Amino acid sequence: MKKYLTILCFLCTIQLNAQLEFDHKEFTKAMCSAEFHGRGYVNGGDSIAAAYIASKYAEIGIAPVSETYYQTFDFGVNTFPSQCDVLFSGQILIPGKDYIATATSSGTCTQQPCKPQKYYSKFISGKEFLETIRKRDLRAFNLKEKQILIVKNEGYSVEISRQISYLISQYAEFQPIIELVNKKFTWSVSSIRQGSLHLKIQSSAIPNQTDGLEIKINIYNRFLNNHISRNVFGMIESRKKAKSTIMLTAHYDHLGRLGSETFFPGGNDNASGVAMMLSVAQRFKNKPLRNTNILVVAFAGEEIGLLGSKYLSEHPVTPLDKIKFQLNMDIMGSGEKGITAVNGKVFTKEFKKLQKMNKRLKAVSVVKSRGKSANSDHHYFTEKGVPGFFIYTMGYNQNYHDIYDTFEALTFSSFEGLSALFEKFIRHL
Ligand SMILES: [Zn+2]
Repeated sequence: MKKYLTILCFLCTIQLNAQLEFDHKEFTKAMCSAEFHGRGYVNGGDSIAAAYIASKYAEIGIAPVSETYYQTFDFGVNTFPSQCDVLFSGQILIPGKDYIATATSSGTCTQQPCKPQKYYSKFISGKEFLETIRKRDLRAFNLKEKQILIVKNEGYSVEISRQISYLISQYAEFQPIIELVNKKFTWSVSSIRQGSLHLKIQSSAIPNQTDGLEIKINIYNRFLNNHISRNVFGMIESRKKAKSTIMLTAHYDHLGRLGSETFFPGGNDNASGVAMMLSVAQRFKNKPLRNTNILVVAFAGEEIGLLGSKYLSEHPVTPLDKIKFQLNMDIMGSGEKGITAVNGKVFTKEFKKLQKMNKRLKAVSVVKSRGKSANSDHHYFTEKGVPGFFIYTMGYNQNYHDIYDTFEALTFSSFEGLSALFEKFIRHL
């Protein structure tokens, strides 16, 4: 009998120790795959991601607060869902690598079937462009029929270059235009569409920069007036009656597709952050807090202007004054150079606690603090008086809003350590 009891106790111990761990790599890899279309607005990528995240909530045991995991809202968004072809002097350019249509750009076609538009190059320097545009007369560019202006925006100071780029985008309200650059692309997504085409092309992709070259452009563009996106939220209940709530958040949307071949995987930004959120959530499911609920929210619409978090802050599912703290996680795939906590300089008591715990756990080499910043989904909650940090990792991975922000480029160097650190920090708030 004693022998059986011993075996039984041994099995109990195994059961107790068999705390589930969330497979963050498998999750991130799926989120970055072509089937998720860059979690944007082409082929319902954001919706596919939302459903996948909800399935993970169910697996972990995060319960829906209402009848579903979803909170829906809508907005307008500019998209490039199909043809995206640029042929420059007979050479095929690759979207995302050699060129981008800016987020606010029109295409060359809004009705299928689309035919390529033919243009001829007219190169000018950024300085010449600035001087001419100041005359406030577009005729001063002396463009002949079918000529397209190609502005060389390179070799200038950051400020001048920004000014040139801004004025080019103003010009694109009326006329198609190409901007030649020699720095990495940082794409985005917009709820505004300009009247005409604004392409950015890498200077290195155009070896021959002379006037009169033939350029064929075929870019199908579609503006979605009322695109529906979904925040995905659920709750891990406290063991005893809850007195307050802690909110774990991360945005899951990214930039989507630029044409049918190119998509932006958004590995670091922010498949990795959602993975971290779920990893921390799993820890609290394994061992819930005594009197504090954990509200888990994967936000949509961040990249287009924090729209998902704005919506939730205006339509809260739990009273905002009962939220003790928000931990918002964005860019969690590296960490070789530590982490930064936005709002660390605002909530100093909590920041010192985080630093102290990191010293003990050695999750990362350094924990830095910043003041307030409207740069992620904590912003609208901070403005409404909810204390919280937005934490991001720092490291060697500089791929940001480009086609190189892939699952394969992530090191996850501090992932497990940070997951443990965040758990401990929250347990001691
Ligand atoms: Zn982000």
